[in-house]
Amino acid sequence: MTYLFISDLHLSPEHPRLVRGFLDLLTHYQHQQTNLYILGDWFNAWIGDDYSAPWLDEIIVALQRFTQAGNQVFFLVGNRDFALHHVFLNKFQGQLLPEITTLNIAGQTIRLEHGDLLCTDDVSYQRFRKIIRNPLLLALLRKTPLSFRLQLASGFRKKSHAAQQFKSYEVMDVNPQAVEQALANVDILIHGHTHRPAIHTLGNKQRIVLGDWREHDAQILEISPEQPAALQLKKWSY
Ligand code: MN
Repeated sequence: MTYLFISDLHLSPEHPRLVRGFLDLLTHYQHQQTNLYILGDWFNAWIGDDYSAPWLDEIIVALQRFTQAGNQVFFLVGNRDFALHHVFLNKFQGQLLPEITTLNIAGQTIRLEHGDLLCTDDVSYQRFRKIIRNPLLLALLRKTPLSFRLQLASGFRKKSHAAQQFKSYEVMDVNPQAVEQALANVDILIHGHTHRPAIHTLGNKQRIVLGDWREHDAQILEISPEQPAALQLKKWSY
């Protein structure tokens, strides 16, 4: 049994190498009874579960093969793909987790989250987040035609200001107090978002940061509960 944690793949049709890296990962772990946890920013952008394209179909087919082989896929949203929902995940029996999820592996309590909520020093982003993540607004957006959302997304891309905003908050690091709070009732905190892969030891607790997917490799976390010490942040090359 293997627990695998990844985040910040930022998959898109513009970067086929990243898509290849993800497909290879599924093939590699397919026969290891894997619980795959994707902690947000799986996709670079997500306009709705009704969007479809050949590059995405290839991913869905690979995920179907992966879960049919007895593995499981769990997803919690990031700041770029927060609109991803059950409809997409149901296509391959994937499961949507709450934005903050607690997990127990071999007696260790583990908190999972994307990580943007820990960056409390970025006040303007947190304000923006509150508005854009309003469930009512999201529900309304889901009801608009796909063509409208496509237009909205391309409008966003054209405004370099918006892109700048994405960048500025992803170079921000976590706030120490926010981390302390997140670790209060757990042994280990696992998150992504900041693109600063590392294992931090804080007293008898750990904060593990997953890496973003680069052109050739990514830092991913593997936990094998059968061997208590087998927790490793490792390089996945593609
Ligand atoms: Mn992020």
